[in-house]
Amino acid sequence: MAEKSGPPRDKVCGGLLSKVCLDLMVGIFGSGPPREAIQDPGKLGVFVVPPSGMENGFKVPGEELLNVKRRELDAWLAESAERHGAELLRDCETVAFRESGRAVKVLLNTKNGAAAVTARFLIGADGIYSKIREKISRRSVDQRVIYAQEYHPRSGNLEDCFYMMYRGDMSPTYSYLIPKGDRLCLGVGILSARPPRMREGMGRLKDWLAQDCGVKVKDPVHLEGYSAPFGNIHFGSGNVFLVGDAAGLGNPLTGEGIGYAIGSAEAASRAILGGAEDPVSAYTVEMKRLGDELESLVRGTLAMDDEERERRVAARKQRSLSSNSRAGPGPTGTP
Ligand SMILES: Cc1cc2nc3c(=O)[nH]c(=O)nc-3n(C[C@H](O)[C@H](O)[C@H](O)COP(=O)(O)OP(=O)(O)OC[C@H]3O[C@@H](n4cnc5c(N)ncnc54)[C@H](O)[C@@H]3O)c2cc1C
Repeated sequence: MAEKSGPPRDKVCGGLLSKVCLDLMVGIFGSGPPREAIQDPGKLGVFVVPPSGMENGFKVPGEELLNVKRRELDAWLAESAERHGAELLRDCETVAFRESGRAVKVLLNTKNGAAAVTARFLIGADGIYSKIREKISRRSVDQRVIYAQEYHPRSGNLEDCFYMMYRGDMSPTYSYLIPKGDRLCLGVGILSARPPRMREGMGRLKDWLAQDCGVKVKDPVHLEGYSAPFGNIHFGSGNVFLVGDAAGLGNPLTGEGIGYAIGSAEAASRAILGGAEDPVSAYTVEMKRLGDELESLVRGTLAMDDEERERRVAARKQRSLSSNSRAGPGPTGTP
């Protein structure tokens, strides 16, 4: 494993883990994240808010997310991989690769200068700006969503919940609020080809929160932003796998990506260890259903107006409250 910064390293993130994601971690490493990676409040419910406002929102019955500190989580994941036998090259950047027959030659930029490694397969797990993905299949700027996050002192009449808020003039994907210690993390998803711009979307989210929940927002304590996938999924070719954000695995309506990253990496490993004649094709076949589902969510997101958002949240609320059901890898509140 070659990681260009650290680990540990910082990653802009909401830091919420679904039950499916936690189960994957426990299945692979035998335990969930350690105490030092848990953010107060450690457990959050899921509250879904339609365009008409909080009064028509609902808390998803039985749904719970783990609230984590991303830096500490990723440090633990890296250490766990090492404990299970992985060799981790810290501060080591993958610069280029070349395939030749049944091998891949990878050029690395290490602390001690340039180096090369030849391997049977390369797994591109290098995130939304993946150089490996770029060489196989480029994606355009409109195939990314930018999440802007502002941190404010905690205030207002709010439960310990992840608030998923849907209204087109704040975000064409979704907006959210996450309690983080004595702060609130406010986020909006922005698309390059659609209004609103970041400042407008965030401004409207703050107005909405002030009005509906008495949240007091002045100047943010901290501001940050980073991109996540928005469709155009590719699982790799030849001897090269793509997993996680490099593959394009992100949920446009919940922002979830960590579980997909771990799940796809596990599927890629299984394809190699299973001894298939063409492991990249076997992996692509296994991942197709999830890829199709996420692509369909992206198309649905682009086609949605507020009337449709309202209708979907109301229908989800009805179903949720009557059946108390669980569905899919993301929060069950996903409209
Ligand atoms: C603002 C925001 C909030 C989010 N909140 C959540 C959330 O609450 N829950 C959730 O499940 N998902 C969330 N996501 C999505 C989630 O962060 C990603 O889907 C997930 O991190 C993808 O994991 P990954 O391993 O594919 O990529 P990354 O986590 O981006 O890891 C890629 C790694 O590759 C390294 N790297 C990059 N290039 C190279 C190179 N050339 N050589 C060597 N190393 C390289 C990087 O340093 C990085 O450590 C959020 C995303 C954003 C932007």
